[in-house]
Order: sequence, then structure tokens, then C-alpha cells
Amino acid sequence: MTAHSRPVRTRFAPSPTGYLHLGGARTALFSWAFARHHQGTFVLRIEDTDVERSTPEAVQAILDGMDWLGMQPDEGPFYQMQRMDRYRELIQQMLDNGTAYYCYSSPEEVDAMRERARQLGLKPRYDGTWRPETGKQLPAIPEGRAPVVRFKCPQEGVTSWEDLVKGTISFDNSELDDLIIARADGTPTYNFCVVVDDWDMAITHVIRGDDHVNNTPRQITILQALNAPVPCYGHVPMILGPDGEKLSKRHGAVSIMEYDTQGYLPEAMINYLARLGWSHGDDEIFSAEQLIEWFDTRQLSKSAAQWDPKKLNWVNAHYIKHTDSAVLAQNIAPRIEALGGEVSNIELAAVVDLFKDRAETLQDLATDALLFCSPFVPAPEALQDEVLTSDAKDLLRTFSAKATELSEWNVASIAQAIRDTLAEHEVKMPKLGIPLRVAVTGRKQTPAIDAVLALLGRSTVLARLTLATH
Ligand code: GLU
Repeated sequence: MTAHSRPVRTRFAPSPTGYLHLGGARTALFSWAFARHHQGTFVLRIEDTDVERSTPEAVQAILDGMDWLGMQPDEGPFYQMQRMDRYRELIQQMLDNGTAYYCYSSPEEVDAMRERARQLGLKPRYDGTWRPETGKQLPAIPEGRAPVVRFKCPQEGVTSWEDLVKGTISFDNSELDDLIIARADGTPTYNFCVVVDDWDMAITHVIRGDDHVNNTPRQITILQALNAPVPCYGHVPMILGPDGEKLSKRHGAVSIMEYDTQGYLPEAMINYLARLGWSHGDDEIFSAEQLIEWFDTRQLSKSAAQWDPKKLNWVNAHYIKHTDSAVLAQNIAPRIEALGGEVSNIELAAVVDLFKDRAETLQDLATDALLFCSPFVPAPEALQDEVLTSDAKDLLRTFSAKATELSEWNVASIAQAIRDTLAEHEVKMPKLGIPLRVAVTGRKQTPAIDAVLALLGRSTVLARLTLATH
């Protein structure tokens, strides 16, 4: 069966050598969306054969990141280190059927072969000393030297595939080296493990970063030697930083969980990451469900995407604005506490209502909410002197008297008291609005002042007004 006629199975295959970074998260997202779109299966495979650099913490960071984004795998995580027996079994099988062979050339000898090729103006490569051919006499086996196993790569013809992103890609087989598939200590090498796993896990579509394009012909030729079906491949261009360089730590946070810390919503992150290299018409805002419904590899971009923090903030602001205030309140409560605020005495969802239209991140929202969740800090003296003039204090006293007499304390009644005060003094709103803000909140700028006063409560407002006008 070809990859096209088998049930769709995709995989995300990170190497657990660090956190889940933005590029990895985006590749995972495309594989996940493709599988979901086709009612297929999304597999998570942990490529942990680099034992020096792989850590359990990194595995956990990857799982946490995927969980946060809501991209749960249907199968896995599978760990390559637990599949060593299977790789060895197939290496033996290839040795037995002649698609692989022992090579006793030492690393120094191979270096020398490469150097010779270079001097002849050829591609540096292994010269095939130990490659068995009919009628060829192999050298004597050097004593005490453990061999590597090399794949006997076809030397003629072309290996090509219809890349889901880049179109036809071809390599002359004459350019492909006889790849080492097992090291001298018997451990299988990277490309071989990937091939065996993609086969055993019945992967039909491999969507990955285009830094793997050069591995693909090697993987295809090995799959063919194993008589295994060849999946469809799609290589996604990398993400560039705002300055056009490859995205890296220099550009700010690259770990996906850092975005959680900074107050980005996972829905916003999914939406933004999907737009980095994929599009559906002019749509900028869409849900994970819409992404799944629309996802098509033909709309993956051939050129590199550029990270744009301003756009991410715009997308995040949109999601904050459209998320239920009670849900946001729950999310920001621990953030407020971490900032030293106190959330138990306040109706936090109402506070969120006041600020959520303007917040770019949940961290902004938490900081805004401190207005209601932390002890009152009067405005700096210079600001008080500037704003709380004797005229302003007169206005505040009038307002205070009216506020004391209100039969109900709510936005409408407060707004009326403000209007009445303005009418009595024949002045316009800023004349009262700014002093009122400075007196009651210590800040010049707040959301609608009637709503702020309603939430603070009458006794608090009156006490602060007394303090400011005495
Ligand atoms: N483990 C590889 C990486 O993290 C990915 C391999 C693949 O997708 O084929 O770059």
C-alpha cells in the first residue's frame, strides 16, 4: 500500500535535549492538525538515543508544552532507547541479506578517504573499501578492530519524492554515502532509528523542519532496502527572528512554556503558531477546531516565516477579550498573588471585565487588577500637587457629599452623581475625572471611573476622598 491509501498516521519526534521550543511546537502542531483533519493518529516519539544530551526533565518539558497547547498524542510517548533490540534485529537482517555490510576502516582512514576526494574536487565520502560486490576481493580484516555497519546504498539512479511543502526533490544516488547504521559499539545511528520507527509505527506522513531534507534520501533508500512503505514527506521552512536571522534565544523567549509564564493563552499560541508558515485565505483569527477543519499541506508556505511579537500580542489580546471573565479570573488569581496582591476580598471576574479589552497578556491583566487587589498607594506627591488643586478639591468634596447620599452604590448611580457634580460646578468631565482617579486610585489613568468606584465600594472611595481633600 502507498502512504496515500493507508490510514493517516503522523508523528512528532523531538530529541529531548531541552525545552519544547517554538519551532518544535509548530512542527508538532502541523503534524497534529494534519492527523486530526484526516481522523488519523498522532504519535509522539522521543528520540533519546543521544544519551549524553537527553534528560528526563526535557522529556517532561516536551510533554508539558504539548499538554498546555492541547496537542495530546494518540499514541506514545515511545522511547527509542527502549527499542534497541528491534534496531539490532533489523541491522542483523540487513547484514544477512546483503543490504548492509561490516566496514573495518578506522575513522582516520575514512578521514583520509574524504581528504583525497576533496583534493580531486569530489564530494568528500567513504570510498567503498569494504563494500562487497560480486567478484570483488575485500581486504583482510584488521585484527582487534570492531567494525561499523554500513548501509549498501544503491549507487545508480535517483532518489526523489514529492515534498508536501517544497515540491519534487531529487538526489542522485551517486551522491549518497554508504551511511553508517551501527557504530563500532553496536549502537544504531540516528537515521536508522528514525527509519525503523517510521516503519514500525506505520507513519504515513512525516512533517518536519527542513533541516532534515538531507536526511530524507538516506531514509528513503533504507526504507526501500527494508521493503517498507515510504511515507510522504513535508519539510517546513524554519522560523526567522524579527531581524531575519534564525530564531534563537536572542529574540526573547523560545521555550513554549515561557509564553505561559508571560501570560499568553494556549488558544492564542496555537492560532499564532499555525499562521507562521500556514494560511487559510486572509483568516488571522481561528480556533483549533477551524485549523483542523481547514488544515491542508498545500497551504504551507515554501518560504521561511518571521516571528512577530507584536502580532502575537495582537492575537493574544483578541483571545483575552473574547475569553469568559470568570475563566480569566481563575488564571490570573495566582499571578496577582505572585505580584503580592490579595484576591480573596474582591469579585475578580468583575475586575477582569474592566480591563480585559485592553490587556495584551494575562500578566498585564494581573498587573492592572492590582488596583483592586493590593493596599492603596496614594499618588506621588508631585502628581497630587499637580492635579489636586484647590478647585479640584472643591469638586471632589461636592462629589463626596453626593456619593454619601446615594441610596444605591452602582455604576449608574455613581455616573449620575458625577454628572450632577459637573453640572453644579459648570465644568467638563476631565476636570473631575482626573482628580477623582488620582485621589481614589493613585493613578491618572484607569478604566471607566464610575465602574472603578463601583467595584472599590463606597466606604473605600469615601475614605480615600477624605484623605485627598483634607
Ligand atoms: N529528532 C529530530 C529532531 O528533533 C526530528 C526527527 C524527525 O522528525 O524525523 O530534530
